[in-house]
Formats: sequence, structure tokens, C-alpha cells
Amino acid sequence: MRVELADIITSENKEVSKRVEVELMSFDSKLGRFPIVKKAPFELKFVNENNKRLLIQGKTKVTIAIPCDRCLEDVDSSFSIVIDKEIDLTGSDEENSMEVFSYMIGTNLDVDQLIFGEILVSWPMKVLCREDCKGICKRCGANLNMTECQCQNTEPDPRMAAIQDIFNKFKEV
Ligand SMILES: [Zn+2]
Ligand SMILES: [Zn+2]
Repeated sequence: MRVELADIITSENKEVSKRVEVELMSFDSKLGRFPIVKKAPFELKFVNENNKRLLIQGKTKVTIAIPCDRCLEDVDSSFSIVIDKEIDLTGSDEENSMEVFSYMIGTNLDVDQLIFGEILVSWPMKVLCREDCKGICKRCGANLNMTECQCQNTEPDPRMAAIQDIFNKFKEV
């Protein structure tokens, strides 16, 4: 969704609240495409502060399905998004001018682009369906949370075998 801000940008000390929709259906990044499973319309507040700065504030939550790092099952991950932006209106602060922000298109605010940027910066380093997720068997691909496969019984991991040896020696003493 795009919100036209020309009226606010040109009206000194004007304050407006607008209910906005997040139209974004998925979060697409170089990591892949992740469906957004839950989102809600929310209120954004716009303030023209003395014709010097435009403030954009609001809060919302989106839930994105992200595969577990170990077993690849989708995990609903919720993002609390707090928007608190300041855009320079005087033209003296080039780093914070309207032109530099990807979510500003002329005097239009691109709500989806704004949300996208917020998700991007809070993307989790690690996603697990549960702390003790057993993952998938590297040999047969079975989800070890759901089932036990026979791979480990038939052919132990060499590292495990080494540990087993030490353990057995220890027992003999
Ligand atoms: Zn998992
Ligand atoms: Zn297996």
C-alpha cells in the first residue's frame, strides 16, 4: 500500500494518523521466499515538525513461516515491528532526505517497502522449531523428531565410534 504524504509534507505542524494495510504476501530476500502467514492493518502517525522533519511512527506485528535450521519444518516466527523514522524536510541533511529512503517514492510512502526493511534488519540468525530439535538424518532424510531411523544403528558415525571406544576402555578400568 502507498500513502500520499504531500499534504503533510507541505503543511507545517500537521499531524495525521492513517490506518494502513500491509499488502506484502511474502518476504523475498537472497535467502529465499518466506510466506507471511499473519499480519494486520495498523496505524501510522505522521507529524510535520516545524517544516523541518517528517516523523513516521507506528507499531505492528507480522508472522512469517521460516524453516527450522535443523529439520526444515516451517516455524511461525513473529516480528514486532516498531517504526520510528525521521525524514529531513529542509534539504540541508542529505543523508536523511526523502530521496535516500527506499520506502519513499516521491511524496508517497511505500508501506510494504517500509515493513520489508524492518523485517530485514531483525531477521533471526537461527530458527529452531524447538531448542532440542533432532533435525533430519543426513543419510535417509527422516525427520528425527517424528521417527527413529535405523541408519545410526547399522553404521555408526566414526566420531561416535571413537567416543564409544574411549567409553568402553573407561569401563574396563
Ligand atoms: Zn526443527
Ligand atoms: Zn536415517
